[in-house]
Amino acid sequence: MAIREIFQEGEECLSKRCREVTVFDEKLSKLIDDLFDTLHKADGAGLAAPQIGVVRRVAVVDVDGVTMELVNPQIIKAEGEQIGEEGCLSVDFSKNCRVLRPQTVTVRAYDRTGKLFERTVSDLPARCVCHELDHLEGILFFTRKYQGK
Ligand code: ZN
Repeated sequence: MAIREIFQEGEECLSKRCREVTVFDEKLSKLIDDLFDTLHKADGAGLAAPQIGVVRRVAVVDVDGVTMELVNPQIIKAEGEQIGEEGCLSVDFSKNCRVLRPQTVTVRAYDRTGKLFERTVSDLPARCVCHELDHLEGILFFTRKYQGK
């Protein structure tokens, strides 16, 4: 386990579409442990692999009692809307802004052992899942800035 450097906006790793994970090995397990360690140290809600320079489809979420490791995640169902302030450990606070997200999402993903699971979450955890999945597409939250009132 290790605390890793969190890359900042402007680094190439944050604007790339991440590659699928195909091998569920010790290296993947260590990556997930490092993501959790780095997230907890930074006191964040979620962290995606590209934020620590690994361009793979892996992310972790730990917010409001929802702890998830997501490998090759997909949102298979989204319902409702929520508008709320977002920020990112890879982006300066001055760019925090409101973003429109689904109120509830069902995510399908693999865990570190290669086991497929589905989980439905709402509110902040749903926002966080959407934010982390955006990272896997090379999308930063402020490009989705909510323009309404
Ligand atoms: Zn982020």
